[in-house]
Amino acid sequence: ACPVNAITAGDNTFRFLRDLATPNKVVITQMAPAVRVAIGEAFGFEPGINLENKIAAALRKLGVEYVFDTTWAADLTIMEEAAELQERVEKYLKGDKDVKLPILTSCCPAWVKFIEQNYSDMLDVPSTSKSPMQMFATVAKDLWGREHGLERDQITSVAIMPCIAKKYEASRPEFSRGLNYDVDYVITTRELIKIFEDSGINLNEIKDEPIDAVMGEYTGAGIIFGRTGGVIEAATRTAVEKMTGQRVDIIEFEALRGWDSFRVCELKVGDIELRIGITYGLKEAAKMLDKIKSGEEFFHAIEIMACTCGCVGGGGQPKAKNRMATLQKRAEGLNSIDKSLTIRRSYENPAVLAIYDKYLDFPLSHKAHELLHTKYFVRVKKDK
Ligand code: SF4
Repeated sequence: ACPVNAITAGDNTFRFLRDLATPNKVVITQMAPAVRVAIGEAFGFEPGINLENKIAAALRKLGVEYVFDTTWAADLTIMEEAAELQERVEKYLKGDKDVKLPILTSCCPAWVKFIEQNYSDMLDVPSTSKSPMQMFATVAKDLWGREHGLERDQITSVAIMPCIAKKYEASRPEFSRGLNYDVDYVITTRELIKIFEDSGINLNEIKDEPIDAVMGEYTGAGIIFGRTGGVIEAATRTAVEKMTGQRVDIIEFEALRGWDSFRVCELKVGDIELRIGITYGLKEAAKMLDKIKSGEEFFHAIEIMACTCGCVGGGGQPKAKNRMATLQKRAEGLNSIDKSLTIRRSYENPAVLAIYDKYLDFPLSHKAHELLHTKYFVRVKKDK
């Protein structure tokens, strides 16, 4: 059974259109990396074609005031997650017996709920960094809003996601102040396609427009979050360079790439040797956690995603006939964007560095902990 009851998650398309038509509401959107390489399939594009600038133009046509990008916050997530990875691995290498390894990436809400329900004795293992969607929304309402003279309740924060489980994540009480949630609601890729179609917007006919600046600027590390192995590759790009103090020439870590649903990867960079586990699908996740618990496997870090091939295969994405081939093309589309960018390490994103300078000081600082980190809870399954 799906840990987040995705099948019953509500459709927010009417609410979105109503908010766009309401005067004095400032509607802002963020879109996850995987949306841009899949949405085009509904308009006759090949899987993997990056349509982010067409989506930006189409959202403005609908009336969205600020079109931002979750990928910007993926870089922010990496700043925090990579710092946690570095801290735990360095302590471990110095012989600290109390340090918790592996560290788990924590941006998939279905997987987070799965560990809360089924492996409650391992809750000190996941990174405490919020997911990119939640980091984006906290920064948007608490920092960006303040800069623009807007109170939290004047901003309607909408997340466009490949994922139905993100609807559940947005509703977790720890991501709200009273009744005001950081993400007001989530629209899936499929729901956005329907909205565009019903509004007579054809992505084939619309001219490109840029995503709004600052919270729209991203690196190659941020964009690969949308495919299996991408989050841990992005974290490793930053962590190993911070640990060794040396620049790595080849940052496409082939050892971490691939399509198998259970992968054991050895990564050697300078003097650092990391053993990394990557899985997708919750059955495979359980297999990996059982092996770690029994001592059969040791990893410094693991990445787990609930959906096939990661978010490119999310439950809110367009249905694909030739599924694996389509998902791989979407993932390759993200790899191509990464390759095309000049800045490919999260710690070099100027817009992310600026926010540390202005508000957060440095990764894992007190202020960063207050805004960008979360807690996990033991959850009892309601079904049998
Ligand atoms: Fe959502 Fe699936 Fe991505 Fe997890 S892997 S964040 S459930 S789309």
